[in-house]
Amino acid sequence: MENVVVNVVNSGSDGNAYIVSVANTKFMLDAGMPIDKIRKANNNKLRDIKYIFISHSHKDHLKDMKELTNIGVRYIYSAGVFDYKDMVVCGTEQNHDITCYGYSLDFPEEHIMIHYYTDTAKININPNFIKMDREHYWIVECNYTNETMIYNDNHESTQVVLRNIRTRETHLSDNKIIDFFKRKDIKVNGVLFIHQSRLNFDKQLFKDKIEQQLSTLSYKIAKNSTKYIFSKCGIKELKYGI
Ligand SMILES: [Zn+2]
Ligand SMILES: [Zn+2]
Repeated sequence: MENVVVNVVNSGSDGNAYIVSVANTKFMLDAGMPIDKIRKANNNKLRDIKYIFISHSHKDHLKDMKELTNIGVRYIYSAGVFDYKDMVVCGTEQNHDITCYGYSLDFPEEHIMIHYYTDTAKININPNFIKMDREHYWIVECNYTNETMIYNDNHESTQVVLRNIRTRETHLSDNKIIDFFKRKDIKVNGVLFIHQSRLNFDKQLFKDKIEQQLSTLSYKIAKNSTKYIFSKCGIKELKYGI
C-alpha cells in the first residue's frame, strides 16, 4: 500500500495551500499562498503539480491563479463526478457564504481515498461515492472550539461578536467535526485538522474532547511548513525530509 504525503505550505485564514502526493500523482488542495512560497515548499519547482482543487475564491484559498494556469496546472472547481484516469473525483457543494466545494478523491489502484472539506458549516459528502474497501484519509477544517467562541463573545469587542456570528454559519466547529467522525457510513484511517482560528480555537480543549469521544482516532493539527504522512497506521508528522 502506498503512503500519502501532505505538505502543509500554510493553513488558516492567512492562507491555505496543501501539496499532496499519492503514488506518482502530485496535486494541490487550494492555492491561497503566493506562488513563490508554493514553489519554495515544493523543492523550488511547480511543474510536477498536476492538478489544483479549489474550494472557493476567498483570498485565503486562491491567489496567483494566472501564474499557475500559465505553467499548465489543471484547475478543478466543480461539483459532480469526474474521471481523471489516475483518480476519480467527486465534488460536492458546501455551506459557506459563497459557492464552496469539498472534494473526495478516489485512487482505485492504490485503494486510497483522500477527502478535503473546509470553510463550511457542515460537511456535505456524497455517501454513494465512499468506497469502504479503501484507506480513507481526511483533510478537514476544525475552525473553532465552541466554548472558546462563547467566551470570546462575552469578553471581546462588538466586531469580534459580529464576526463570530458569520463564523458559526460558515465554518466547522469542534463539536460538528467530532459528530461527523462518529458516522457509521464513513471510514477514517487518519485526519489532518486544518484552518484553525487564531482567536477561537483552543488546542488543548479540542484534544481533550477527541480523547473523550473518539479515543482511537489518529489525527494531527496542521502546522505551517510541515509535512505529514498518512499510512495504514494513521497519520504522523514527517520530521526529516522527503
Ligand atoms: Zn478560509
Ligand atoms: Zn472562505
